[in-house]
Amino acid sequence: MKITNIKTAATSGHGMHLWVKVETDAGITGLGECVHGGVQAIAIIQELRPRLIGRDPFAIDALFEELRRGHVFDGGFAGALITALTGIEIALWDLKGKALKAPICELMGGKFREKIRVYADCQVNPGMDFGQVQAVVDNVLARGFTAFKIDVDGGEAKNKDPFNFTASQWEHERMVQLVEMACRAAGPEIAVAADVHTRLDVPSAIRLARDLEQFHLMWLEEPVPPENIDAMREVKRATTTPICAGENLYLRHGFRELIEKQAVDVIMPDIPKCGGLSECRKIANLAELYYIPFAPHNVASPIGTMASCHVCASIPNFLVIEFHWFHREYWTTIIKEKTDIIVNGYIALSDRPGIGLELDEEVARAHQYPGTTWFAE
Ligand code: MG
Repeated sequence: MKITNIKTAATSGHGMHLWVKVETDAGITGLGECVHGGVQAIAIIQELRPRLIGRDPFAIDALFEELRRGHVFDGGFAGALITALTGIEIALWDLKGKALKAPICELMGGKFREKIRVYADCQVNPGMDFGQVQAVVDNVLARGFTAFKIDVDGGEAKNKDPFNFTASQWEHERMVQLVEMACRAAGPEIAVAADVHTRLDVPSAIRLARDLEQFHLMWLEEPVPPENIDAMREVKRATTTPICAGENLYLRHGFRELIEKQAVDVIMPDIPKCGGLSECRKIANLAELYYIPFAPHNVASPIGTMASCHVCASIPNFLVIEFHWFHREYWTTIIKEKTDIIVNGYIALSDRPGIGLELDEEVARAHQYPGTTWFAE
């Protein structure tokens, strides 16, 4: 079997959902999805296309590494190049699964679990009163989720310098209060995480993490900017609140120091962004050496989400995967299966080959990302 063509399309979902279709001379196609690559990733895939045509689509890891090393001077460690390769890689896995009539996770060593726990990223915002927080949490729990995440940064602070990372007394108290309300609304059976979006300096983050210890959070996410791993470790070592980071890192090279220094308690690679299925399986295996759980960041459509679930099924240290609140119509109608893949807070792996879901191109095209082409030659 040989690759005969690579085509792209893009839809407006959570930002851009970029679709990569790999065609073969056997008539079998694979579809991948990547996120956060932008129009740059589309251009990169077009540039890589001639190097893929005529190649063996089963040599997934070797093709990925050949293209990455061949462009190492063009950003072969992080960013749009890696995300473009990720879209191709996921399409190749879908194709290989279909060709071999096997779900991807069965080709990755088999399943540790039949269904994947999902947490809801929900819109609890600073400034809400307890009644408003309770209403949001009730909606999440009514859908069967057993875990959710809130954003605790943001909102208006008096005299706040937008570039300074020091939390004022007012901001600190507001963040603690928001977590307290979310945990009270959820009750003790539900796992709650809180995201700070890299907004604090080390002392502000340590003070926050310590004052949140009483709530036993699932994790506190990116309390300090993620690019300084030593600073992250200072926070991690000063508190029993679990610290989570990694949604802005790429490849196992990007995660190595974070894991080796045990600078976090939980890692959160974005699988359809940071290197794809093989790479994230390797990242999870590295983390497992230190007993660090794997909780992927996720803003993909059901297809990218299900692709990520094949990795989550095939590793021992999976904790929970994210679901972002898209408008419901996009989430359920963009796939031919016309269903919500999340049932009672879990996604079940199926016996269908490849990723196991199909894009409804006609419906998806109604969401076409402005200025992009649609699976053009
Ligand atoms: Mg985050």
